[in-house]
Amino acid sequence: MGQAKQRSLKKTEIIQNAERCVYCDDPNPTTIEHMPPRGLFRNKDRPSGWEFACCSSCNQETRGSDAVAQLVAFVDPIDVIEPEKSWKLNAMVKVTGAVDAHAPGVLKELFNQQSWSNSLVRRRGLIHRVHASQASGIQTKFHLDRFSAKFGMASFRHFTGRELGMNGLIFTQWYLNAGLSQETFAAHLSILPGRHELAQGTKTSGEQFSVWFNTDKKNITAVLGTFHSNLFIQCICTDGEEFIDPLREALGPMVSAKFPTTNLVSASAPWASVSQRVRTALPNGGAGGLHEMRR
Ligand SMILES: [Zn+2]
Repeated sequence: MGQAKQRSLKKTEIIQNAERCVYCDDPNPTTIEHMPPRGLFRNKDRPSGWEFACCSSCNQETRGSDAVAQLVAFVDPIDVIEPEKSWKLNAMVKVTGAVDAHAPGVLKELFNQQSWSNSLVRRRGLIHRVHASQASGIQTKFHLDRFSAKFGMASFRHFTGRELGMNGLIFTQWYLNAGLSQETFAAHLSILPGRHELAQGTKTSGEQFSVWFNTDKKNITAVLGTFHSNLFIQCICTDGEEFIDPLREALGPMVSAKFPTTNLVSASAPWASVSQRVRTALPNGGAGGLHEMRR
């Protein structure tokens, strides 16, 4: 059987096995969502696994957030120092078109040189001057929060075998390379005993994407995803009645201007909840024109 035919059979099977869209209550999803997206892999060479039934509106509308996640995941200070060796730098340049088209404002926030700070780093015995670009702009936060919510819902679907209920809660927190200390990473891992990666034949995703996880396989999942060496996303998702209130109580206070990359949103309208949260989490209330999404 040809590869194209196999792919289309697999697509049909994924769609038939789904109760609804992985991200919303649309009962008739027609497209396949790849989480993480193919573009996040070197030469788009993505091992299979983690393909989900998705409605076309969720799939299309969140393209910008996928592109922003790709852009930041590819950032690598060592590559910037030796650009000729860097496939990641090329991949970053390639994805800027999609970011510009589907996540307007993000490039300006990330690459506005006035917001760059100069610092010195030591690599292989030499001191280099590097620019540290801050991912603190409102558009950037919106897209990384939304990508994180997608990652949370997709991992819930993967580990429990069903879509996260509409009564559910999604807690997310993302880190860029410098933001996640060894201690925090170790603390996360101590409660996440499982490790998962995409695998297809001898091809595995480990260096590019892996997931540390803990779950009752029923109605709660906790995951830490690593996307290359620069983007880390922690998510807790639940729709278990016994977990919802205690989690809201425990995690609610974490979502504040003090921790700008945290987010706690409802599974019934995740994209609207993300925009609402972005507004309330930022000191200026999100003034400055958040790119609006329908959902
Ligand atoms: Zn949907």
